[in-house]
Amino acid sequence: MAAEYDAIVIGAGSVGNPTAYFLAREGLRVLVLDELSASGQGQNKAAIGGVRATHSDPAKITLCRESLEIFAGWKDATGTDIGWKKGGYCFPAFDEKVEATVRGLLPTQQRYRLNIDWLPATEIQRVVPGINPTGLRGGTFSPDDGQVSPLLAAESFTREAVRRGATYRYRETVRALLREGDAVVGVETEVGRYRAPTVVNAAGVHASRISALAGLDLPILPDSHEGGISAPMRPFLDPLIVDIRPGPEGRTLNFYFGQNSEGQIIFCYTPKPVIPGESRDSTYEFMPIVAASMVEVIPRLKNLTIRRVWRGLYPMTPDGSPILGRAPGVPGLVLAVGMCGQGFMLGPGVGKSLAALIVHGKPSIPSEIFDLLSPSRDLYASKKEALK
Ligand SMILES: Cc1cc2nc3c(=O)[nH]c(=O)nc-3n(C[C@H](O)[C@H](O)[C@H](O)COP(=O)(O)OP(=O)(O)OC[C@H]3O[C@@H](n4cnc5c(N)ncnc54)[C@H](O)[C@@H]3O)c2cc1C
Repeated sequence: MAAEYDAIVIGAGSVGNPTAYFLAREGLRVLVLDELSASGQGQNKAAIGGVRATHSDPAKITLCRESLEIFAGWKDATGTDIGWKKGGYCFPAFDEKVEATVRGLLPTQQRYRLNIDWLPATEIQRVVPGINPTGLRGGTFSPDDGQVSPLLAAESFTREAVRRGATYRYRETVRALLREGDAVVGVETEVGRYRAPTVVNAAGVHASRISALAGLDLPILPDSHEGGISAPMRPFLDPLIVDIRPGPEGRTLNFYFGQNSEGQIIFCYTPKPVIPGESRDSTYEFMPIVAASMVEVIPRLKNLTIRRVWRGLYPMTPDGSPILGRAPGVPGLVLAVGMCGQGFMLGPGVGKSLAALIVHGKPSIPSEIFDLLSPSRDLYASKKEALK
């Protein structure tokens, strides 16, 4: 006989863990299944932990504002330090084009109550000590954004969900969905069958495989990105910096880095062209490009000692925004998929809204904003997320 739960979450990742936590907090009996051996071991652990509400899409701004509130209050709420550092995000502008892009987004960002403004070059030099002054025109600064450790967060959300009665089962791959008519009523793994009236697909880069089991064709395709981390150094840098100029020889679309709560410099870039597929091998070109980009922005980082590099995957959608909500035509299946490069920062906000949708019938953020990320939207519409 299949074990019975109120909700099953497929994937103990950036989104699945907070979703399980908020569902368990509502009193539901929750089962979380992951094919890996522990929580947060998918793409969650590849994230560098940047958490910002600085986006161009109203739904992402609003969900990430919720995430920021949850991350910022986590230590007080649970007693656990997850490496939260409120240092803000800075998008410096070294040319007219970047200035026009980041200033152009301010009206939307401010309309959705994001604390962000344009600062002149002298102020940016105060916020980012040691920034290269050559050509610096100013930049945007959002002081309420920050950073969190993705592994500490996964561990803590899991522990808090379990404390509220959630069950985690690792090394189990969901291979089939149990159906009654059109409805999904549970899942099957190589180990057993589990029934629940709600199944949440939070399977990250493999989310389209799960949806395909219910006959849904979701265009979520992985592309790969490298990241790295230095040895710790004396804290000097509060915000995360995002440089959206094309990098050396036009090989990057943007480059971002910051200093975490342990003093390590953590960094990543978006390669140009993007690299589709699931390869996780490190490339020979990553560090030379990072070194040139980083020293260009903050010259004093030229003596940095690099500890480790890695490569992970973004679960990409055509328009660069997640797909959230009830699956059209498949009662019982809820989608929390296609997080692109921002699944860690979206996780708690998404989890809270989805739990509210499942339990109370409407998300915790205004429905008209949440519905902008609906599975029924035109995923190929020309309006794309500008800061994806
Ligand atoms: C280098 C790099 C830097 C990044 N930096 C940031 C950042 O600073 N901030 C940010 O917000 N995001 C960042 N990201 C993106 C972020 O890592 C992802 O968007 C996020 O982890 C996706 O969350 P998820 O919950 O959808 O997937 P995951 O965290 O990967 O979770 C999905 C889980 O589902 C499990 N699963 C899949 N299929 C099955 C199945 N059939 N049965 C059972 N289990 C299954 C997987 O094992 C996995 O654990 C970065 C990514 C990379 C690669």
